[in-house]
Amino acid sequence: MVLSESDRLLYCDFCRVRSYLMPKGYFRYMLPHKAPEDKDLIWVPYWRLKGILYSTLMTGTQHRFIDASLQAMQSSLFPVSLGLRSQAMKLRLVASHTPGRFLHPDLPAARMLEIMNERFSAGLTPPILHQTHIGEALSLIYAPFYIEDRIVDAVLNRPIGSPIPEDFMLETLKGGKPDWPTGFLPTLCPECGWDMKGRSDSLALLCENCETVWNPDRNGLRSIPFAHVPNAFDNPVFLPFWRIKAKVKGLQLRSYADLVRTANLPRVVQEKWEEIGFRFWAPAFKIRPRVFLNLSRNLTLSQPRDKLVTRLPRQRSHPVNLPVREAVEGLKTILGSFIKPPQKMLPLLPDIVVKAKSFLLVWIPFSEGHHEYLNPHHQLAINKNQLSLAGNL
Ligand SMILES: [Zn+2]
Repeated sequence: MVLSESDRLLYCDFCRVRSYLMPKGYFRYMLPHKAPEDKDLIWVPYWRLKGILYSTLMTGTQHRFIDASLQAMQSSLFPVSLGLRSQAMKLRLVASHTPGRFLHPDLPAARMLEIMNERFSAGLTPPILHQTHIGEALSLIYAPFYIEDRIVDAVLNRPIGSPIPEDFMLETLKGGKPDWPTGFLPTLCPECGWDMKGRSDSLALLCENCETVWNPDRNGLRSIPFAHVPNAFDNPVFLPFWRIKAKVKGLQLRSYADLVRTANLPRVVQEKWEEIGFRFWAPAFKIRPRVFLNLSRNLTLSQPRDKLVTRLPRQRSHPVNLPVREAVEGLKTILGSFIKPPQKMLPLLPDIVVKAKSFLLVWIPFSEGHHEYLNPHHQLAINKNQLSLAGNL
């Protein structure tokens, strides 16, 4: 099996079993090499961060695409980053039988994220009130080298840098065999044993037999609570959204009435609105950053209260490929996009804490136009092109 980067669902032609790829820790990939066969390869780890950095500023929310790498060892002997290689070259998952010494990363992921944030915040007008990564994919890429009188880059088979110091000892760099577990989960429903459905990049597996939804995570398959809004169109397409109940500290935002006041909506607060619980909404699919934020804001402001049915939609549905964890990370960014007046409210944002309490996956029906998916009831329009292009994000 050769795996592309976004493949999660695998099918083995030989034993005819489908399984879901779920490593412990991070996905670990390797670059191809052209080293002569007698060379002992050393594999140097690089963090690769792919995603979108949202920054809330007084003037609005800015986003930047990040696809960057950083050496995870902080050693001056090897290049600081992979340059364009992580994007341009064919990456393969590291197999446990790969020869060579795989060096240990010692730059913590959290520190790497700080460095990346700083680098990708250049030119933003301060103050930066809040920053978060959404749609983030963090992986390790191993680059091959071998040692002669200089370090040789085994991708091109070409020496790099100055001669290595005489007291250099490879053994002082921690490393070993790539014997970390790969982690394959069978795609059989834990409830009824049915072979579940899902596209290769899907993060939710659907059991159409017992009508359950499962999210593969490090501890196995976890059940996802779900529902759908009954269809109101001919030939609908159902798009998935996360509806998230959260506790907001530092701002009164518990009810629909609170939302009307916080977002300064042109409505007169009715007494019963104090009893209607407030929920955040965000797409459960990857989409262009500006559209992601617009959809989240518009749905959160409209607080859909359609009748929900706790069954899978029968018609076409778009795969879930943005995990609830990512949507939760975006809650404060969504909040920052609608609190008003911004001059007065946005400075409060750094001290506000938004903590998710529970969530529901909700499929909402859209009618299909030539260029867009439309839901007039919630005044939503999603350009089809942006949805398909988002596969690359
Ligand atoms: Zn089942």
